[in-house]
Amino acid sequence: MHDILYFSNRFMKKNNILCEYYMLKNSVRAYIRKFDCSYAKYVTIKQDVKFLFRNNVVKLVNDAKCNFYYSILVEMKFQKPLNENRWKRDFDITGNSTWKQIYTCRILGMTELRIAEFNYKLLHGILNNNVSVSKWNKDVSPLCEICKTEEDTRHLLYECKIVKPIWQKVGSFLNVDIAWKLIVLGFYHETNEKTWTLNNLLAFITFVLYKYKMKCRVKNESMSEKTLRQRLKCELFTENAVLRNINQIKYDIYYRMGESL
Ligand SMILES: [Zn+2]
Repeated sequence: MHDILYFSNRFMKKNNILCEYYMLKNSVRAYIRKFDCSYAKYVTIKQDVKFLFRNNVVKLVNDAKCNFYYSILVEMKFQKPLNENRWKRDFDITGNSTWKQIYTCRILGMTELRIAEFNYKLLHGILNNNVSVSKWNKDVSPLCEICKTEEDTRHLLYECKIVKPIWQKVGSFLNVDIAWKLIVLGFYHETNEKTWTLNNLLAFITFVLYKYKMKCRVKNESMSEKTLRQRLKCELFTENAVLRNINQIKYDIYYRMGESL
């Protein structure tokens, strides 16, 4: 980098600086070989050199692989997500290891990247809703256009008049009581095939509900329970076909879920 900066002031054409740098480097390569670099600092690192790393860990340079440096980077840069305190308070979560289980099943455990991203936003409280938009755009009302009550994420995805009946149908199909906690955190106590399928299915439904509302908002279309149900049905059928095709589901649970709506 220093070399590039040094040469940048000396080149005629600055728009192609890297190309000129490499041309120059190639042209002097033959001369470079004549110099003995074995004593140069940082060029030749001896095999048995030990370094003192964080937490008083002494390691041979050659033994330390990239995951060792990565763990140091994570340790230095990681900041506890602020929203964890909110969920802790709302859902009475104890212990730090629980969070690892939650992130693993909500983000790593998702079949699709778009759903994992959606869950990430949900867990960190950065999904779009009228309350948050109205804070910086005074023209936007913080109220839900259907229920006329404040539209936070919980209302948007769970309590809204057009969404609530859908969750009731989903709950009766799966024979599970669909609570807000389940929508946010999923089944995280155990990880097995059943919880994996249910987590993916519930996250997919939540994602479609969110996308439907956002699309209506952008296109200025009116929302209704009927159109939402039709949309969700259609998306569930398509998703079933996609997941079948890539062998991600054994039973047509998405299809049957769609039919039960
Ligand atoms: Zn509403």
